[in-house]
Amino acid sequence: MKKNFDNAISLCSVTEKELELINKYSLTELKAEDIFAFNVVLCDNETDRDFECFDMDALKTLSELYIGKTGILNHEMKAENQIARIYSTEVEVIESQKNSAGNTYARLKAKAYMLKNEKNKPLIDEICAGIKKEVSINCAVSKIVCSVCGKDVKKGRCEHKKGQNCYHILKNPTDAYEWSFVAVPAQKNAGTVKKFTNENISAESENLVEIAEKYKNFLRQEIVKLSNVISPEISVKSVENICSALSVNALEELRKDYLKADKARIKPQLLPRKNENSIDGFMI
Ligand SMILES: [Zn+2]
Repeated sequence: MKKNFDNAISLCSVTEKELELINKYSLTELKAEDIFAFNVVLCDNETDRDFECFDMDALKTLSELYIGKTGILNHEMKAENQIARIYSTEVEVIESQKNSAGNTYARLKAKAYMLKNEKNKPLIDEICAGIKKEVSINCAVSKIVCSVCGKDVKKGRCEHKKGQNCYHILKNPTDAYEWSFVAVPAQKNAGTVKKFTNENISAESENLVEIAEKYKNFLRQEIVKLSNVISPEISVKSVENICSALSVNALEELRKDYLKADKARIKPQLLPRKNENSIDGFMI
């Protein structure tokens, strides 16, 4: 499965001790000035956009599995794409912060290095400028448990619906394949990439969830546009906040109401108008 993490990257310097760790992976002895190092948050124990979260033990296991793993671009595992490597990891527990399930917040932080060379310069520049800031991990877990009934949903579905009355807890990571820089999505929540390769029991429902999410995004954008015309005094942020709490049905209703209100407004007769009830603008 692949998991994305926004705002994952921050810069760091390399200590002598860390240089020793880095040189374990290098054929020639590297000096501090040959290296560009950065912190990267790979994942945490917060429920994500797919209504899934790793538990604390899973983060600890991943911290061991990710040492020495290469970072690539857009999950394309070609030799020339292997541009960074993780040389240390830690599970950072933030006692003062709780995740949405009420547990102490924890995240898997890694330190990675790249060679400062011409080939890597564009990427290093993008990292420094804050343009490349999202990473995605690709790993396998052997157990996925329902947060309500505790059933292992990899073995069979339970009566609960993920995202409606439960979330799924990812347990027992068995492999960490790589991690990847991914393109920053145009809008928040737009960049989720998630695939179950050998875990097809939920592949179809994952696909449906993704389509539903796209449709919801489309409805939200439409409502923001209509609200801007009909109630310009309400800020875009407020409309977005309202929309983020609504179900698909409620979003559809709100869009219909806005379209009615839009039609009721006095408009020049000769302007060509699109059929506003069509959802042609929604593409998968
Ligand atoms: Zn359940």
